[in-house]
Amino acid sequence: MMAPGRFAGEYFANLRLHVSRWALWSLNKSALAYILTTVVAAPVVTIALLRHLNVEPQQVLIFGILLAAAIGYGEAFDRIERFRRFLGDDKVQTNHLSVWTIAGVLTLPPGLACGLVVLIYGHIMIMTRRHQSARPHRMLFTAAAATLATAGAALAASLFTNQLHVASGINAALASFAAVPTFVVLDVLLVGGGVYLATRPSTLRAVLPDRNALWFELATDILGVVTGQLLLTMPWLAPASAGGLVALHRASLVQQLQVAATTDPKTTLLNAAAWRDRALKAVARAARETQRVAVVVIDLDFFKLINDKHGHLMGDRVLADVGRAIRNETRARDIVGRFGGEEFVVLIDGRAAAAHAIDIATRIRERIAALSHPHGIRVTATIGVSHGVPAGAHTLDTLLAQADIALYEGKAAGRDRVRALTLA
Ligand code: GH3
Ligand code: MG
Ligand code: MG
Repeated sequence: MMAPGRFAGEYFANLRLHVSRWALWSLNKSALAYILTTVVAAPVVTIALLRHLNVEPQQVLIFGILLAAAIGYGEAFDRIERFRRFLGDDKVQTNHLSVWTIAGVLTLPPGLACGLVVLIYGHIMIMTRRHQSARPHRMLFTAAAATLATAGAALAASLFTNQLHVASGINAALASFAAVPTFVVLDVLLVGGGVYLATRPSTLRAVLPDRNALWFELATDILGVVTGQLLLTMPWLAPASAGGLVALHRASLVQQLQVAATTDPKTTLLNAAAWRDRALKAVARAARETQRVAVVVIDLDFFKLINDKHGHLMGDRVLADVGRAIRNETRARDIVGRFGGEEFVVLIDGRAAAAHAIDIATRIRERIAALSHPHGIRVTATIGVSHGVPAGAHTLDTLLAQADIALYEGKAAGRDRVRALTLA
């Protein structure tokens, strides 16, 4: 049998080796400082709140029910969750556990609500370790941010409830209105701040949850409010909220699969099939309303040279930058896609805009030429535009063919320019 001292020594040596391999240590200094501060602040705040604890037996019961429900749910839906994280690994996820968190915030003293969040995340960390799929520092940071957001939300709710946080009527409603936005805003800011410092993206939007994630968050929060009320009136029915959460999960999975099926992963623009699908609808609508549409085809100049000189990965990065620039120069309703290779395509409809397609194309050309990529790489684009009122035989394919002709005229004339053709 191994001596306990030696066993402990080996255990700690292994732990040190394990911790030294964390990707955390490769982060830049400000991101590291921010993340470590958050991770230290969470237990400090939790312990400070727990020191003033005054618990009713009913709240011990509520705490137990919420913890059991969260753990039971986590175990049962482990697989869905892993799939969801796999799909959205590099996107900022809002906090899908807020059904239990918000319910806790509205029914428990702040310290106990924070303790609940710590235990729920502790369970998730054990679960993800089982699959060896976790990046421990990410999980720890997410947990710390959720704990601090919970503390903030619980304090906001406590403005409207009595000391024991068991409220009814108007006070319960006010507490919910205070707690939910506080939780969401704090969580998004805390997590977004860390991701921003770690990745330094060019736009703030990259670290904020997208509209779908916010809707999902709102739905789980409302479910949390309902669960909180159930806990106060019919506690044994509260875990049934897990059923609602399953439905939400499934809906969000379908939604994410839809996005994955229509998105070009390198640029996050529409892929060719999805672009065509939406462009066909826009052209049909324009034909019905005898409105003008424009198709803008953008092909990067001498792109092969960039790949040859700097490698395909750098080429991909340039493609992503160009895709973002095109998206930024167009309106939300314009249909922007990557057609393949280093070719992009935009459909512009609406009377005013389509008439200005050449101006828009010129702005896109200037914006692409002004981008500075790593290693001093510069790239220009040649752009073909076709526009007209689609009718009869003048379909999307005619517009595309005309834009292609214009594009090749531009290439032949020396590149880095816009050429346009009007439908006859
Ligand atoms: P030009 O259009 O000015 O005539 O020259 P070009 O070098 O851009 O020529 P062309 O459009 O024919 O070549 C496209 C090149 O784009 C070929 C290929 O190396 C590169 N390419 C296509 N798809 C990708 C991709 O997904 N990633 C990267 N990095 N390169 C790609
Ligand atoms: Mg090209
Ligand atoms: Mg090409």
